[in-house]
Amino acid sequence: MKDSTKCLHAGYSPKNTEPRVMPIVQSTTYVYDSTADVAAVFDDPTRSLIYSRFANPTVMAVEDKICALEGGVGAMCTSSGQAASLLSVLNLCQAGDSFISLSEIYGGTVNLFAFTLKKLGIECIFVDKNASDDEINAAFKDNTKLVFGETIANPALSVLDIERFANIAHAHNVPLIVDSTFATPMLCKPFDFGADIVIHSTTKYMDGHAVQGGGIIVDSGNFDWTKGDFPELTTPDESYHGIIYTETYGKMAYILKARMQLMRDFGCYPAAHSAFLLNLGLETLPQRMKNYCENALTVAKYLKGCDMVESVTYPFLEGDANYELAKKYLKGGSGVISFVIKGGRDTAMKFMDSLELASNEVHVADIRTCVLHPASETHRQLTDEQLKAAGIEAGMIRLSVGLEDIDDILADIEQAFEKAK
Ligand SMILES: *Cc1c(COP(=O)(O)O)cnc(C)c1O
Repeated sequence: MKDSTKCLHAGYSPKNTEPRVMPIVQSTTYVYDSTADVAAVFDDPTRSLIYSRFANPTVMAVEDKICALEGGVGAMCTSSGQAASLLSVLNLCQAGDSFISLSEIYGGTVNLFAFTLKKLGIECIFVDKNASDDEINAAFKDNTKLVFGETIANPALSVLDIERFANIAHAHNVPLIVDSTFATPMLCKPFDFGADIVIHSTTKYMDGHAVQGGGIIVDSGNFDWTKGDFPELTTPDESYHGIIYTETYGKMAYILKARMQLMRDFGCYPAAHSAFLLNLGLETLPQRMKNYCENALTVAKYLKGCDMVESVTYPFLEGDANYELAKKYLKGGSGVISFVIKGGRDTAMKFMDSLELASNEVHVADIRTCVLHPASETHRQLTDEQLKAAGIEAGMIRLSVGLEDIDDILADIEQAFEKAK
């Protein structure tokens, strides 16, 4: 099946007389014929469903759909993108371990990695995307368990050189985890370039309609955990009858450990109703992504010609610092553009407040056009140094171009520039 067919059919195939649309299975629990049946499921939870903290049929249909789109062996939904980031790291790291992350990543992930995981005894070492191989290799320690980056960084909009970072990670026997939220599987398939684990905030384009928050972790099944130093996967798990994930589950070791151990203990599984809404978004993802990319490229070109604009960042704009990487890794630049308005913070705020169609909201990738001022909103808790490392300037505006008619989007921006002058 091609992607647009998968978006409609993967994950759920109704049989004779069953509902055409995957129903919302609004039940926390499942019935068994005997205690022996229940015991068997506790011995091997992959046999069937136990409880809604681990699995639910509506959510699993979405997991299978996104897994099919990424080309993985298994996937697990989470109640937010943050939960996906957290579990993807905790599945490999414990107190005393470290990992490497690109510095240009989502502000919420910076907080998680730099502060909260540090409190748990896990060290994140940030590296610059332009650092040399030698500099990056020097950041590895004996206890380094993974490398993390974003396909299209939010909000810096730089494109990750996935192949390069996968090669570096693999040379150190650790996996590359890629947050591919902005790209979605429609614009990039990170596994094709060597990434081992892909995560998404499904709150963004996958949902697309701003109606549910969620995340997902997808396992390529390609990383050989027995080659590196991953005792959590290759030695008995005391909390699960001494199971050794790599021996029992082979290629699915990582994703099944995440579900059986971490989801069991942290309990951040999404509700069936959220998965139902997410599935509706996924059904039109190919058409929407195409349309977002077309509208955004038109807006980016327009902004580049505006005298009030200092600079425009959009990976698919010719001349953009990431244009070559974008051409290699992406089928489109997504709907998100960032630009720096002349006049800094004050003019940026005036421009934002003058928009009539585009709304000022802490969101991105909505079907409606929206704007955000990172320096005074999402990233306000970061120090100036961290802001700079994340590629953010005071006059920078993040514009998430929606699916309104392009003429209306451009007219709105034009009138807001007039008022901000
Ligand atoms: C929004 C976002 C997240 C966090 O996702 P939530 O669903 O808001 O928890 C993580 N990574 C990226 C790239 C994001 O844009």
